[in-house]
Amino acid sequence: MEFSALGLSAPLIRAVSTRNYSVPTPIQEAAIPVILRGADVWVCAQTGTGKTAAFALPLLQRCLSTRGETPRPVRVLILVPTRELAAQIGSTIDDYAHYATPPLKIGTVFGGVSINPQMMALRGGADIVVATPGRLLDLVEHRALCLDRIEVLVLDEADRLFDLGFADELTRIVRLLPARRQNLLFSATFPPAVHALAADLLRDPIRIDVPSTPATEPTILQRVIAVDTPRRTQLLRHLIQEHGWQRALVFVATKYATEHVAQKLCQVGIKAASFHGELSQAARTKSLVDFKARQLQVLVATDVAARGIDIVELPVVVNYDLPRSAVDYLHRIGRTGRAGSSGVAVSFVSATAEAHFRLIEKRHAIKLPRETIAGFEPAATSATDPNPSTGGIKGTRKNKKDKLREAVGAAAPRPFARQAKKAESD
Ligand code: AMP
Repeated sequence: MEFSALGLSAPLIRAVSTRNYSVPTPIQEAAIPVILRGADVWVCAQTGTGKTAAFALPLLQRCLSTRGETPRPVRVLILVPTRELAAQIGSTIDDYAHYATPPLKIGTVFGGVSINPQMMALRGGADIVVATPGRLLDLVEHRALCLDRIEVLVLDEADRLFDLGFADELTRIVRLLPARRQNLLFSATFPPAVHALAADLLRDPIRIDVPSTPATEPTILQRVIAVDTPRRTQLLRHLIQEHGWQRALVFVATKYATEHVAQKLCQVGIKAASFHGELSQAARTKSLVDFKARQLQVLVATDVAARGIDIVELPVVVNYDLPRSAVDYLHRIGRTGRAGSSGVAVSFVSATAEAHFRLIEKRHAIKLPRETIAGFEPAATSATDPNPSTGGIKGTRKNKKDKLREAVGAAAPRPFARQAKKAESD
C-alpha cells in the first residue's frame, strides 16, 4: 500500500517521501484510516515500528483544516512520560508539518528547563502541543495555555502515563479537557493493571494490535550472559572491545551506577556518559545528542531512557542490571532493532538474578540459552553470590508500589470513569 492510499493530503505525502518512507508500516496502515475517521483507538504495537507517524500524520491532516482563528486554539494534545520523548516527538511532527500551508504550529513543552521561552513560544496559540504532564499543568496555571478546545488527546507510552507517578497529574489534565473528544492510546505494552484506566478513558475504542510477523518483528538477537555481579564492568568492557561495538546503550538500576559504570569505562578510554533523571536537563540533552551523533560510544542510563527514544541504528542494548519489571525489559531492548534494522540485546545475569530473569522469560513466553564468556565464568551460585545485583525484578509477591497501583486501577479514584459519566450527562 502507498501512503497516498491512506487519505493523507499532498503536503504530508511530500514530507514522508522526504524522509524516504516508501510505504506505510503495518501500524500506520492500520491506524491512520481509523484515526482519520475520528474513532478512539487503543493501539498496542512493538517499539520502533513507526507509531509516531501513525498518530501524527492523521492529526496533522485534521489540523490542516485550520480555522484561521487568532490565537490558535490547541486542538491536539500529545502527552508523553519523558522530556526526551517530548522533544523527539515534537521535532518529528515539525518535520511532518514542514510543507503544510498555511503553516501549522507545534508547541513542545517539558520540564527541567526554563518555562519562559515555552510561554513565549505558545503566544498566539498552537495547533498541536506535545507535553510532559507536569510542565503542561504549570503552563496552564500560568495561563499560557488553555485546554478547553482540545479535540484529540493522545497518550504515548500510555501504560507509563497511567502509572502511579503520573496518575494524579493525568487526572487533573483530563478534567481540563472537553468531555467530547477523540482519545488515542499507544504503547508497546499494556499490562493488565492499566486496562481499567484505559477503558475508562476511551469511548467505543477500536483496538489495534499489530501482530508480529517475520516482516514486522524487530530483528533483535537476545543474549543472556551468566556473570558474577562484581565482574560485570570488566565483562562489559571486554564485550565492547571484542565485538568492536561502536555504540551501546547500557541500562543500570540506579543513578549512582550510571555514573560509576560510565566513569570506569572512561578510565579505560571508552567514551561514556551517564543519563538519569537527576542530571540537569542540559546535561541530559547533551549526553543524548552526543550519543545520537556518535560522539559517545556508551550511554549508561536508568530506565528514564527506556521509553520511546529513537536512536537510529543503535546496534546494542545491555542490561547490566536487569529491569525491575518485565514490561521494561521489552521497552529497553526495543531501543535497538528499530525500523527494520537488526540489533543485539545482552542481559547480564548473576546467580542471584537468575530467578528474576526466569520470571521475565515467563512473562514474555521466551526461553533464552545462558552463555558464559571465557575468562568470565561465574563462580557464584544463587546461594553464594556475595554481591547481589541491585536491579531487582518484580516477582509474584506484590510490593508497596504494586499495591498502590492496583488501588489506583481499582476502587479508588477511577478518574476517567467519573469523566465518562460526566460526558454522558452533559
Ligand atoms: P517510532 O516507532 O515512531 O519511534 O519510529 C521508529 C523509526 O521508524 C523511526 O526512525 C522512524 O523514522 C521510522 N519510520 C517510521 N515510519 C516509517 C516508514 N513508513 N518507513 C520507514 N521508516 C519509518
